[in-house]
Amino acid sequence: MTFIDTHTHPYDTAFDADREEVLQRALDAGVSKWIFPAIDSTYYHMQLECFNNHQNNAFMTIGLHPTSVAANWREELKFVEEKLKDSVNSSNHDSALSCNPRYYAIGEIGLDGYWSKEFMKEQMEVFGTQIDMAAEYNLPIIIHERSATDEIFQVLDNHVFGKSGKSQRIRGVFHAFSGSPETFERIQRYGEFKVGIGGVVTYKNAGIAKTLENIPLKSIVLETDSPWLTPVPHRGKRNESSYIPLIAAKVSEIKGCSIDEVAFQTTMNAEELFAI
Ligand SMILES: [Zn+2]
Repeated sequence: MTFIDTHTHPYDTAFDADREEVLQRALDAGVSKWIFPAIDSTYYHMQLECFNNHQNNAFMTIGLHPTSVAANWREELKFVEEKLKDSVNSSNHDSALSCNPRYYAIGEIGLDGYWSKEFMKEQMEVFGTQIDMAAEYNLPIIIHERSATDEIFQVLDNHVFGKSGKSQRIRGVFHAFSGSPETFERIQRYGEFKVGIGGVVTYKNAGIAKTLENIPLKSIVLETDSPWLTPVPHRGKRNESSYIPLIAAKVSEIKGCSIDEVAFQTTMNAEELFAI
């Protein structure tokens, strides 16, 4: 069985003491491909270094995380734009130590009204601009949404079904999906969207467990969001990609199918979505 962790941050400082052991455990557990969502320019060098050390398994993305949208948002957005341009213009993606890696998605991007609403207007502009970039570069997006559902749909409406009447197709994943079956249906209007299912599904009384009954397996990808959102029985401790089979086991229980089927289908979903 092989799995893909479609959302993991092993480059975070939480892994400074034992990063290689953690990533080896992921490989030993069959979790052989890892998508590294970007956060902002201050994390970039760590993300790139970790990628360069694991080019057979890791896949880079670029983007500005909503909780990193602050007074310097224009510079941060420019950073994303320039990285994308450099990547597209670079021909040496396969070199041993790449400064211009290929990006497999724009992410993570979106809106977060939970931690602060101070920059919500700017968050919406940054999210919209990055949706346009994804359409221009034909890349999937990784959406982070917390306490801003109405605003997310407002931005998607404006940038997918443009006011000018022109509409652009996008695709991607709703990371850490916790919405209703109705929200899932609504997302599909914007393009082919998967939902990212992680450790939360293993929590007692998790609403997403009920929602999953109504979401087909072909629309699900697995993710840890490590070092955060740790699944049971490790809840409360640091999360890591080797816990993906725990999430897959819970999904198989909910969907009434084998864990092999979950591994096979979610791996195929992720490979198709990210072209990896
Ligand atoms: Zn994340």
